[in-house]
Amino acid sequence: MRAYFLKFAAAFVMAAGLLSPAKAQDKMPAELAGLSEEQAEEVWEFVFGNALFVLMHEAGHMLISEFDLPVLGREEDAVDALSTIVILESDDTVYDNALIDASDSWFLTGAAAAAAGDDFVFWDEHSVEEQRAYAIVCLMLGHDAETFGGLDAVEDMPEERRERCVWEYQQTASSWFRLLEPYLRESGETPVTITYEEVSQPDLAVYAEAFREAGLLELAKELIADAFVLEKGIAFQMTSCGEPNAFWDPEERTISYCYELGQLHAQLLAEYLMNQAQ
Ligand SMILES: [Zn+2]
Repeated sequence: MRAYFLKFAAAFVMAAGLLSPAKAQDKMPAELAGLSEEQAEEVWEFVFGNALFVLMHEAGHMLISEFDLPVLGREEDAVDALSTIVILESDDTVYDNALIDASDSWFLTGAAAAAAGDDFVFWDEHSVEEQRAYAIVCLMLGHDAETFGGLDAVEDMPEERRERCVWEYQQTASSWFRLLEPYLRESGETPVTITYEEVSQPDLAVYAEAFREAGLLELAKELIADAFVLEKGIAFQMTSCGEPNAFWDPEERTISYCYELGQLHAQLLAEYLMNQAQ
């Protein structure tokens, strides 16, 4: 099971290295105004890394509904874990950055909410932001303490928690592998439709173009769709939804990622970098 994840390493290298500084300058969204070239590149990588994590999260919802998998506990936490495991098992350091990006985005969202004086929403089906961040970090640590032991978020954790992460990773990964093993594809490809919808709003069009050039959906197809027997095929689309979000629609058999989410992630890190400079 693990071996199959290894073959996907190459694609994201392309995506992450895609935006040479010149190119990034060329297609600078308003969110990045005032940042240095280096910072702008950092923001793009953050946006791509988070998009990959979100696509894998939605793919987790898709696998659960397609294969009618049992979910013990909260589905949102379960698919965050799957997304993390898929990326970790790819054993490529370029993907590891996507996980650091995803956990950082939850820390930043949590901090922004706290600064705005928002109350915690305890009834939400998602865990509060920092919990989602620490859950990702714990799995990273459990998978590879040598690589991830030095992360700030790891240093925040008490020793007992860190030790439990090793066991938590093994348990979570082996549970997912056992559930998914019967559906692994031996050969061939899943019929997949990929669409980067054109948008008229210039503030989102810049993201549409960056995602298309980076081939984020092609990467999701390779990582998830081609890995499993999904007879009826699925569609991946990037589009404008009027809100920063992403969805799996079982009727339409479509995973959708909203450009607004890319914009939100860019805003989040850009604001953090600006504030840091002050
Ligand atoms: Zn979800």
